[in-house]
This record gives sequence, C-alpha cells and structure tokens, in this order.
Amino acid sequence: MNSEIEKPEGVSLRPIPETAVNIYTPKNTFDATVVSKRRINHPSSPNYDWHIVFDIDGCDMEGKYRIGQSIGVIPAGRFNDPALNQIHRGLNSKVRLYSIASASWGDSWDGKTVSICVKREMSEDPVTGQLVFGAASNYICDAKPGDKVQITGPVGKNFLLPDDPLEHDFVFVATGTGIAPYRGMLIELFNAGVERDLWLIFGVPYSTDVMYEADFRYFEKTHSNFNFITAISREQRNAKGGKRYVQDVLVEKESELIPLLQKQSTMLYMCGLKGMENGIYQWLAKINSDLISIPEGLDAKAVQELARDAAEWPIIERTRNKERLLKETY
Ligand code: NAP
Repeated sequence: MNSEIEKPEGVSLRPIPETAVNIYTPKNTFDATVVSKRRINHPSSPNYDWHIVFDIDGCDMEGKYRIGQSIGVIPAGRFNDPALNQIHRGLNSKVRLYSIASASWGDSWDGKTVSICVKREMSEDPVTGQLVFGAASNYICDAKPGDKVQITGPVGKNFLLPDDPLEHDFVFVATGTGIAPYRGMLIELFNAGVERDLWLIFGVPYSTDVMYEADFRYFEKTHSNFNFITAISREQRNAKGGKRYVQDVLVEKESELIPLLQKQSTMLYMCGLKGMENGIYQWLAKINSDLISIPEGLDAKAVQELARDAAEWPIIERTRNKERLLKETY
C-alpha cells in the first residue's frame, strides 16, 4: 500500500469540484508553505526533478482546483534580484506556470495541499560561457520545508479529465515533466475504481530520467487495465534505427491502440514538448483516425512527408477533435 497514491482506510474521496480559474492572480497571491520535497528521478541522473508539496490550508483554492490545471509560482529572493537577473534570466515577479501533479484532493487527500513537479533548468550561455539558471525552477527546487512561496491560480480549462471519467478509456502520452498531470489523473482514476483501459506512454532521454517510476510501476502491478510504457530516446532505437520516441511506441502498439481509439469514448492526451505533436498527428493520419482532419489537398501519405515547419501543422492542430484529443504542450 502506498498511501500517497492509494486512499488510506477511513478516508472518503472528495468530490471533484467545478472548474474555477484565477482565484489568485499576480496582484492577489497566496503564500503557500512548502510541506515537503523529494527527487522523483533516479539519484544518478544528471537532471534534478523534484516533487514539491505546498500547504494551502485556508487558501480559497483549497478543494477548488482540478487535476489538469496549473498553478503559478512567483520566484523571489536571489532568483528575483535585479543584480543577478542577467545571470539568472530574471523574471521580475513574472509568474511561471506548473501543472498540478497531485489529484484534485492533493497528496494529503483533504484538499489542503497542492503538488507540482519541477525540473531544475540549467545551461551555459553560448556567448559568455556562463552558467545560466532558470529563475523559477531553481527558486522552487531550492525551497525548504517551511518556506513560503507566492502562488497564483488555478488556471486552465481545457486539459481536464471528463466529468464522467469512468465512462472513458484513456491514452496518456508525455515527454519529460509533461508527466506531471498524469500522476494526479491516474491517482484519481484508480481511486475512483476505473475499469476501462488506461495507457501511459512516457518519453525521457535516459532511463534514469523516468519520473515517479515507483508510483507507475505500483499501479502497473495492482491494475491489470493499466499499460505503462517508456520510450528512452537516447538508449533505445525505433524500427528505423532512430531514437525511440513516444510516437514509435504508438506504432509498436497499434494493434491494441487502433481499436481502442476507434471507440468514441476513448480520450487521447498529449503533454510535454510541442515537438511530439507532429509525430503523433502523423501516426493518427496513418491509422486514419477521426481525432484529426487532414487538410484539403493532402492525404495520409502526404502528412508523413510534411516538413517540421509546414503551414499545415497548425491547421491539423486547430481542427483536431478537441473533445477527445487534448493537449498541453510547450
Ligand atoms: P526532457 O527531459 O528533455 O524529455 C523530453 C523527451 O522527449 C526526450 O526523450 C526527448 O528526446 C523527446 N523528444 C524530443 N523531441 C521529440 C519529438 N519531436 N517527438 C517526441 N519526443 C521528442 O523534457 P523536459 O526538459 O522535461 O521538457 C518537457 C516539456 O514539458 C517542457 O517544454 C515543459 O515546459 C513542458 N511541461 C512541463 C510541465 C510541468 O508542470 N513541469 C507540464 C506540462 C508541460 P531527445 O532529447 O533525446 O531528442
């Protein structure tokens, strides 16, 4: 039993609230307290990915946010110091949005916490060779239990679970920290007793980067309707000898996924890097899925040959079936 993802005895599941947005804004923030933080990828990974739990007891957001929404964080302290901003890509109080990674009732089951998942952004300035830190991500990853953090939100109305989640099958596709909302969604679905099929296809560079792996392996062990597949781009090869990406897993598993996606009750979610969209649209075109429409003058074969920056991609994106193909990509 893992009491963070599986309802402890005696706890009743809280109802999923109506969708509320912008309860807190940059002009009206809430001071959340850091309850805990833990690394969620392998300790030997060169990436630092953290799960951070905030206490929101007494906040108007308590019990009012939904999984699939995001909260904003306003960096402070040294990451918002104008003297350091040149180095630290200063945000000057600008809000950075992070997807909520806990179920709508929080990791505490009572709605009094909200959790996010954050990867430290670090790179070198190509001109000066100086180390460059992402201001918000390093601010959050440096925070200690007890610290106050200004938050805003919730925001987002389009990347939610449907109101009747148990009547749907789900195919969740993530790259990198785009995994965040699926953790909360899976916790909600499994604790509500979902019997339909659930797929989680998760792409990361190295096997040490698979976030929340223990949680997903636990669900895999305890729920035979859950399929969890990782695409480790820099360690595995696809059938053509290239990097194995999430869209390659869709191809590998299409004998199961095509009939699943033909059901009008199946939802497909994409979260993470914008770049993965084209590959997924190409696969959907190839299998003749009604989740997308092929622009006039093209056919499924021509979609496979579209350049990465082709003008047709935004058309495919705009005309997708927005009821069943949901995306949160950057
Ligand atoms: P990452 O660790 O670099 O992993 C991304 C994976 O996707 C890598 O395996 C990468 O492979 C692969 N990839 C690259 N191009 C691809 C393509 N065209 N098709 C399919 N896969 C591709 O990712 P990250 O740095 O965490 O970035 C995740 C993104 O999610 C960010 O843009 C972030 O803003 C966004 N996001 C974050 C949150 C959050 O709450 N933190 C929520 C939603 C979305 P290679 O690098 O080996 O090519």
